[in-house]
Amino acid sequence: MAKYDVAVIGAGAAGLAAAGLLAKEGKSVVLLEKTSILGGRGLQVDDEGFRVSLGGHMMEDPGSGIVKIANELGFDIERGPLSSDMAVWDHNTEKWGSIRDRYTGANRDELKRVIKKIVETPYEDFDEWDDRPLRTWLAQYTSDEGVMDVFEYVTVLECMTDNWYDHSASDSLYVRKLHLQDAQKTGFSFWPVGGWDRMWANFEAAITNNGGVIRMNTPVTRVVIENDHVKGVMVPVDGLLPNTDLQEEFIEAAAVISTLPVWYALDIFDPGTLPLWYENQIRYLAQDKFRVSLLGIHLATEEPVPILDRLELSTWLHSPRARVPGFLFEQTAMDPATAPDGVYLYSMGGVIPGAKGRDHVYLRETMDAFHADVEDMYPGFGDAVWSRRSLIFDPPFGVIQMPMLVGSFRPDWKAPNVDGLWFASETFKSRMIGTDRAARAALTCVEDYLGRRLWSMDDGWRY
Ligand SMILES: Cc1cc2nc3c(=O)[nH]c(=O)nc-3n(C[C@H](O)[C@H](O)[C@H](O)COP(=O)(O)OP(=O)(O)OC[C@H]3O[C@@H](n4cnc5c(N)ncnc54)[C@H](O)[C@@H]3O)c2cc1C
Repeated sequence: MAKYDVAVIGAGAAGLAAAGLLAKEGKSVVLLEKTSILGGRGLQVDDEGFRVSLGGHMMEDPGSGIVKIANELGFDIERGPLSSDMAVWDHNTEKWGSIRDRYTGANRDELKRVIKKIVETPYEDFDEWDDRPLRTWLAQYTSDEGVMDVFEYVTVLECMTDNWYDHSASDSLYVRKLHLQDAQKTGFSFWPVGGWDRMWANFEAAITNNGGVIRMNTPVTRVVIENDHVKGVMVPVDGLLPNTDLQEEFIEAAAVISTLPVWYALDIFDPGTLPLWYENQIRYLAQDKFRVSLLGIHLATEEPVPILDRLELSTWLHSPRARVPGFLFEQTAMDPATAPDGVYLYSMGGVIPGAKGRDHVYLRETMDAFHADVEDMYPGFGDAVWSRRSLIFDPPFGVIQMPMLVGSFRPDWKAPNVDGLWFASETFKSRMIGTDRAARAALTCVEDYLGRRLWSMDDGWRY
């Protein structure tokens, strides 16, 4: 029977970070992944010569999260080239402009005042804002629409909600403060040089080089708990025969870090193992209507079609017909190797209300309208030489970052009644969405397991 100090479930950003850190700390660790692919929702796939990013598009770590974890494990996540500008679509005039145009002249000073206030406010003070929207916090310091716009457009890019008035104050302000503090920028994101796959492969090497074990194609079917203590996990036995689900292998481990997001977190627990109120917190967040769901389009052109410059991220609050908020970037400007020579690959997403992801009539109509929108907004897409459409719903991008669904309203990352059980996911008590947040959630759980900090907390928050 296999025996480890810790079993980590799921090899996405959180699981790879958790297993890497534990192996580095000399713990015997096994990482169990259901599929044959590393990276979880940060997924890249090959499609007719294109390397399509279905999940992760941009990293949002200014240096104190997943990048620092990688450094701790002995490798770099190098930042790809960045644009300092952002193209924004004005849905009233139906024209593009620069985000800078929104805060020129007198309101530049007002923007500076708001930024100073964010930087001066301790992270913990933003915890008081879990129940209110971003605009309510901003309205204390500005009534200038241009200044409001800066924050709300950046927030759409981070895919918080499908309506600007729903953006949570606390989640958004935590991230603004992080970016302002660590990168001196209101919004910050980059493409990892070498691509997402290389980053996951580097994590894999760090785990195995430090003695950790990774088992792919190994779904955990159940976390075994006896007398309120974790004992290990069950996985199906390897074998050639089909229907062996009920023949299981026990992997012994006194600690389990599950990285399964809220939509699947309860699948691996016997009913009644966790307190009902805790299960209900998880079920509440997992509702369809709280999913950040996306219509994804990938388009290739023979000429680049930038608005301001090829490295820009562009964003809009309402596309003309589909009325969806969204974002777009040229993937080949970040990483030319993701498309055949002489072809430019664009990646874009439109946020749709979560529950609509099951409504196929709505999806077809909205996708057609969205596709027509981007062809109008970016002259040149009409001549695309290749395209793919995708629906991001199951699993979704994340849990929508609305007031009352963030921070203290989320289930804690430590199981309340079981020794040795942690939930390392940005869908549990965490801040915002994304691979960096997933890795920070993992770091929080690993440190709690170890009973100490791995390095000074000064340069950013953990979960
Ligand atoms: C379309 C889309 C775009 C996104 N864009 C960005 C972006 O630009 N930037 C960014 O930072 N983030 C982005 N995200 C979010 C980002 O992908 C996630 O926040 C991050 O990948 C979450 O990592 P995780 O490890 O917490 O969870 P996951 O990646 O969901 O990992 C969970 C892992 O557990 C495995 N698993 C499930 N059940 C079992 C089981 N029973 N046993 C064993 N393994 C199991 C899954 O296969 C998976 O590998 C995007 C997501 C989507 C869907």
